[in-house]
Parts: sequence; C-alpha cells; structure tokens
Amino acid sequence: MANIPKSIGAIDVQYVKGVGSARAEQLKNIGIQTVQDLLNYIPRRYLDRSTIHKISQLSINSETTVVGRVVKIKKIPRPRQRLIVTIYDKTGLLDGVWFNQVDYFAKVFEVDQEVAYSGKIGFYKGWQMIHPDFDIIEESKDQLHTGQIIPLYPSSEQLRTRGLSSRGFRRIIHHALEKYGTMIQENLPAFLIEKYKLMSRPETYHAIHFPKKMEEINQPMRRLKYEELFYMQLLMALRHYTQRSGIQGAPMTTTGVIIQKVYQKIPYELTGAQRRVLKEMYNDIKSGHPMNRLLQGDVGSGKTVVALIIALIAIENGYQTALMAPTEILAEQHYINIRNLLRDIPVSIQLLIGSVKNQQKKKIHDTLKSGETNLVIGTHALVQETVEFKKLGLVIIDEQHRFGVVQRGELIGKGLNPHVLVMTATPIPRTLAMTFYGDLDTSVIDEMPPGRKSISTVWRKENKLTQVYNFIRERADAGERVYVVYPLVEESEKMDLKAATESYQFLQNKIFPEFNLALIHGRMRQDEKETAMKKFKKGEISILVSTSVIEVGVDVPEATIMLIEHAERFGLSQLHQLRGRVGRGLKKSYCIMITPEEVNEIAVQRLRMMEKTNDGFLIAEEDLRLRGSGEFFGTRQHGLPDLKYADLVNDLKIVEVARKDAFEIIANDPQVRLENHQLIREYFQENYLAKYETIRIS
Ligand code: ADP
Ligand code: MG
Repeated sequence: MANIPKSIGAIDVQYVKGVGSARAEQLKNIGIQTVQDLLNYIPRRYLDRSTIHKISQLSINSETTVVGRVVKIKKIPRPRQRLIVTIYDKTGLLDGVWFNQVDYFAKVFEVDQEVAYSGKIGFYKGWQMIHPDFDIIEESKDQLHTGQIIPLYPSSEQLRTRGLSSRGFRRIIHHALEKYGTMIQENLPAFLIEKYKLMSRPETYHAIHFPKKMEEINQPMRRLKYEELFYMQLLMALRHYTQRSGIQGAPMTTTGVIIQKVYQKIPYELTGAQRRVLKEMYNDIKSGHPMNRLLQGDVGSGKTVVALIIALIAIENGYQTALMAPTEILAEQHYINIRNLLRDIPVSIQLLIGSVKNQQKKKIHDTLKSGETNLVIGTHALVQETVEFKKLGLVIIDEQHRFGVVQRGELIGKGLNPHVLVMTATPIPRTLAMTFYGDLDTSVIDEMPPGRKSISTVWRKENKLTQVYNFIRERADAGERVYVVYPLVEESEKMDLKAATESYQFLQNKIFPEFNLALIHGRMRQDEKETAMKKFKKGEISILVSTSVIEVGVDVPEATIMLIEHAERFGLSQLHQLRGRVGRGLKKSYCIMITPEEVNEIAVQRLRMMEKTNDGFLIAEEDLRLRGSGEFFGTRQHGLPDLKYADLVNDLKIVEVARKDAFEIIANDPQVRLENHQLIREYFQENYLAKYETIRIS
C-alpha cells in the first residue's frame, strides 16, 4: 500500500466516478485538477423548493423564483431586439426576456429544458421577467436531485456540452464525497474550531454541497471563509516575520545637514499626518531591520515629500535610493519637482526611463554602479538586468497597484535587503489592505494640506454642453487652465483615440478658437507629451485635451476645471484620481462629468458618489462594493491565492479575527512546529508555501 495518496489534494479528479479523462480535461480548464479542487467548487446558489412560486400565483413587482420547462424560444427584432424564452410550470406561462447578448442566450436554452428564473415579476402581454437570474436545472427522477434544496453550480456552454451542467456537477461531487469523503482531513486545530464554533472540515463539505435545510448553509460558508482567510493571513504573518527577523537592514541613524537644508526650502509646513508617518518610517529605517511599509494617502495628500525626506536620510547615511513610478510622465514630474527642491544641495539625481537615449542610459547605469548617483527616479526601466547599484539602501515604489510583485521584487533584489516603501495612489479599503498587503506595515496620511478647497463636482448630460463650454470660456479667460479627458480603453483604443482627436479638433476650431488647445495621448512621443505639458503648466496652452494618460500624478496648480467626457466609462477610483488633478492651487476648482442621456445603474451610482464626497477612503470603499473584490484588485498580480469564499466587502470581521489568530501563531511559533499547530503546518506547507512562497519553514 505504498502509493496511496494521503490527501485528496493529491488525487487526480479523473478518478472520481463519472469524470474520466475527457471531462477531467474540461475541469482542468476551470482550475479543477484534484478531488480537493472539485470539492472546493461550491454552488453559486441554492434553490429552495419551498420558496418556488407557481406561475398562477405570481403578483406584479414581487421578487421570486419560478421553475418550469422551456416551451418557446423566440427572437424579436423590433422595436428593440430581444429574446423571449417562455417557460411553463403546469399552472401558467412566464416569459424570460433578454435585450442584451440575444444571440448568445438564444443558444443557452433548449426547448424542454427545466429552468429556474429568479427576478422581479413584470407584466407585458403576460407575466415576464427581464434579464432573470437563471439556472438550467435538468431535474430527473434520480434520487439525488429531488431533495428540498437544489444546489446550483456555475457552468458554461462548454462545460455543459461535456455533461458538466449544474446537475452534472452535483452528480460527480456526490460520487467524490461518497468515495473520498472519509479522507477529508481537518486542517484547523481544535482550539480554533472551538473558539469560533466552526463546523468540522468533513461536515463542511457535505453541508455545503448537500444541505438539508436552507438555514444550514451559513455554517459551512462561515467555516470556509475563516479557513481561507486564516491561511492567507498565515502567509502574510510569515512574510512579515521573515522580513524582519534575522535579516539585517541598513541602520540609518544619521539625520541632519541635508534634511535641514531641504526643510528650509519646502515652501510649506508639513501637516501633522505627514510628520507622523515620517516618524513611523524613521523608526523603521533606524531599527536595523528592513522597512516594509505601505504608505496610503488620498490624491494630493502629499506623499511625495514624505518619501523624499526618507530618501534623503538614506542618502545621508551613504545609501542609494531608487524611486519607481508607473509612467514616464509621472517619473519625470517627480524628477523635475525633486530636482528643483534639491537645487544647491549636493545630492546627485538621475532620471532613468525607457525613452532616454541608449548612450545616456549607459552613462546613468555607470553612475549607479559607481555610486556616484544618489537618487534615481524612473519607470520599470529601473528593473532591467543591466541596472546595478553600488549600495541600494531604499526602494520607493509609487502607485504600487500598477506593478506586479515581480517587478517590485526585481527592484528590491538589486539591493541587499533594502528598506522598502510602497505608496498607493488611491486609498485601499481596509479589508483589501489587510488581505493583499497584510505583510506590510501601514502608514496613513489622513489629513489634507491646509487651504485645499473642496472641488465642486457635478454630473451633466451631453445636452448641457453649451453651458459647460461657456463656463469653461469664462474660467479660461481669467487665466485658469482646463483639462478635458476622454476615456481610452485598450480594446477599442483606435476608436477612442479617433474620438479624442476629433473632439480636440472640434473644440479648437469651433468652440474655443480664441484659446490654445493641445492634445496628448499615450501614443505620442515622450518629448511631445512633455512639451505639451510644459506649455500647459506655463499657460501657453489653456485647455489640455487628453486621453486618460494624465490620470496619475500630474501637478498644475493653475488648473481649475476637470471636464470628463463619457464619465460613465470610468471606474470610480479613476474618476477620483482625475478629479485630484485640479484643486491644487488657491482658486476654486470644478470637476464636471459628462455622460450621454442614458446611463446604466452602476454608472449612476458611481457618478452620484463622486458628487457626494471628496473623501478618497469613502470612494475606495464604495468602489469595492460596486465592483466586488475580484475585479477591484487582480490578486494574481500579487502572487497570492484567489479568494474563493471570503467576500472582502462584507467579511471584514472574519478578516480581522483570522489575521489576529494567524499573527499570534507566527509570533509564538514562527516555524509552526508546536504540537497543536501540526494540522496547520502540513496543510500550510502543501497548499500555500509550496505554491506561493520562496520562504520555507524548516
Ligand atoms: P500625492 O499624495 O497625491 O502624491 P503630492 O505629493 O503630489 O500628492 O502632493 C500634492 C501637492 O501638495 C504638491 O503640489 C505638494 O507640493 C503639495 N503639498 C504637499 N504637502 C503639503 C503641505 N504640507 N502643505 C501644503 N502643500 C503641500
Ligand atoms: Mg503621487
């Protein structure tokens, strides 16, 4: 019995009865390789027979679920193209109506299929549901499928053609539990199970796939969420611990001459929040262990100057600093601002971006290697193999969310355990920060520099454009600057660019012939963009038309109006970022969001939120709620496991307790060796460390 796998995570899913090699192939496409993966494929929702309504008993506007057989599938071309899929439940007929993706849905349904519709009941020549949430049930007489509660699994056309409909999944999962159910091992120690009154792991999988009562579903879900978050936090805790223990960071204790000079040159007082986070960071870098800190602050809260001061401390202590920004424009702006601030101060800085000529690049590389350059500001050009540092002691990463862990790691790897400071452009909701940046210490600048006037934000439909243009004319006449931004998405880049270009010509020739306008977009050469930006800053150009490339970082205090065209196409955080480009001077500023007459509901919520608040933290929370955590942050680029069960919008409490438990365990038992951590150790090693870490527990 030598080669009996000890865990269901090691048994190929093809051995489950009813799967076989062809279906196993399909399953692999959706990430199911092992029996464990299959059990982790949980129902997207459940249908409770006791709450299903008969069509004869429907009432208008009620939210309900109806189950019936498809009797008719019909495309109607006019007045508006739509698909009607009529179902019959022996008491009456109900139309499911789709206005979008008509051809796609026409293929999803077949006459005689049993389906469930959930949604709001309407009436138009009969009962109807518009865009119902639907499931194809394919009931049969089969015992397995006649229970009170029907679990419904996510499926797709492709899976269905392989017999992996919702019902197909129920069947193979049933087989998997029957055969391998007894092999499901507990992976949480008894003290945690007791503490939160969790279901045992084997019970959990039975209950989540084949619940007897609707009330039972919360328990397995709670257990799966906790388990998932606990292990994620254990990973964070171990990283956090490893980054600090044993490893020597460069102790940076000298402060003085340069800092004093710089303080004198900064034309303002630091805010209390800026001083506080500086202190937090200074404590880190003098500690002798590497700093690993996330600096959060709303747009315009003044993160740059704080980062600069820390950089200068590193430089005074004889170390080099690298500051990496996501775009060339932003890197250049940092470079220009910092160079101005450091004029007459003996610190040597360089700008290293892709568009720098090769010969010049080579020179910069040489000065980095020799140690002659103290501070280098750049883009991902900094992580090129040929870049070497003499003594890199501090790495600063601006607008962190645009870089993957890989790039971050590559830059860090160019030093010997350098201190690391990552800054985010937009505040990150707490649950996300704890989850995806949970290994970093966090500092927050929660106070804006004084004198900032809140930006008036309004949403206007296109038919109000004439008034908006008149308003812009007034402000531009008074010498203020205006941004006009067009959306640009990669998929339709050409068309978007065309639209932006045409609008620019229209604005210049027909609407604002008396002003100088310029267009900037991502396809332009770097020096052309820069020239336009400079002219805009100086006032030689009053109205700058751009695609969303100016989103980050650009600083023009005289700009008072941000006009966003097709605002419905921007995400909430993106809108907030754009708004942050104005309101940086003394004059009252405005953000005007233009949309077509008709806008979808989610976009309406985004626009209303923008009108309601200037607070980036509130906006980030709302953005997360509207988008869901999966989309808000690609977890993949963080090199972390996807969250399958936990929902970062609603599960803050669980994140918090899981985090506390995990950090306590690592603090007391960093190698996870204690007797009562044995279960954790094995599972953690196999499912987390082996997959996501270079760190090892010995
Ligand atoms: P962000 O946090 O978005 O990166 P920046 O660092 O670009 O913000 O700062 C935004 C603007 O605020 C800059 O023009 C900067 O000079 C200015 N600023 C920063 N700190 C203060 C302060 N304490 N008082 C006044 N202005 C400040
Ligand atoms: Mg910034």
